Amino acid sequence: MAVELYKDAHHSCLAFGNLVTGSAVQANQFVIIDHDEVALLDPGGELTFTALSNEVTRHVRLDNLKYLLASHQDPDIITSMQSWVTRTNATIVCSELWARFIPHLLPMYMGDKVAQRCMAVPDKGMDIPLGAALVKAVPAHFLHSVGNFQFYDPVSRILFSGDMGASVGGGDVSTPVTDFEAHIPRMLGFHRRYMCSNRACRLWANMVRSMDVSMIVPQHGQPFKGPEMVGQFLDWISELKCGVDLLTQQDYLVP
Ligand code: FE
Repeated sequence: MAVELYKDAHHSCLAFGNLVTGSAVQANQFVIIDHDEVALLDPGGELTFTALSNEVTRHVRLDNLKYLLASHQDPDIITSMQSWVTRTNATIVCSELWARFIPHLLPMYMGDKVAQRCMAVPDKGMDIPLGAALVKAVPAHFLHSVGNFQFYDPVSRILFSGDMGASVGGGDVSTPVTDFEAHIPRMLGFHRRYMCSNRACRLWANMVRSMDVSMIVPQHGQPFKGPEMVGQFLDWISELKCGVDLLTQQDYLVP
C-alpha cells in the first residue's frame, strides 16, 4: 500500500514501505509525480521488483516513468535495474562514480542500449527536470557510499535522504518520529558503522540547514517531519562520531 507523503493538483510523492519480504532488511521505495512524468527513487533489488511495479502501476502508467533515481549502488537501491530498463524507457540517474559500474547488472547484449539511458551526476549534484518541476540531486558523498546523492523535491520540500537517518525496529514510513531520544537506539549502530566520519555528517547537516526542508525521509524506517524533528536529527548527526573517527589498530588485526 502506498503512503501519500504529499499531494496537490499536479504533484505528488508516494512511499512504499512494506514490499520487502523474508530476511532482507526493510527498505522504502518512493515515487515523485509531476504532471505526467514520474521518477522512481531507489527501487531496490529483484526482491521488490514485482511487488513495486504492481503498486506503482496502480498510480501511474509505466510509460510515464522518466527516471530511476539511484542514491548509490547498493543491492537494496538499484539491483532491479535490468527489470526496469527492459520494461520501461526510464533513464537511470546515478553518481558519475557509479555510472561505469552499474552496467555490470545487465547482460552484455543490453550494455550499449542502456549506456545512452544513464545520466551520470557530477559530484556537485544537479537539477533533474520532471514535468513542470525539477528534482535536485544533492551531494551526500561518503554518507555512506563514496558517490552518494540524495534527492530533494522543492515542491513538497521533502529530502529523500537515502541511508542518512535510516532506522530499524521502529515504525514505518507512515509514522514520523515523535520521540527523538527514544528513536536514537534504532539509528545509532547503523550510523556509527555505515557513515564515513563526523566531518562528512557535519558538512552535510550544514547544507541541509540552508535548505527549506519539511521532511527528511530515509530509505529505511521512519521519517523526520517538521522543523523540530528535522532540527533534532541534524543536531544529533552533526555531533555523532562514526566511521573512521572510531577506528583503532584493534580494527586492523590479522584474524
Ligand atoms: Fe547502501
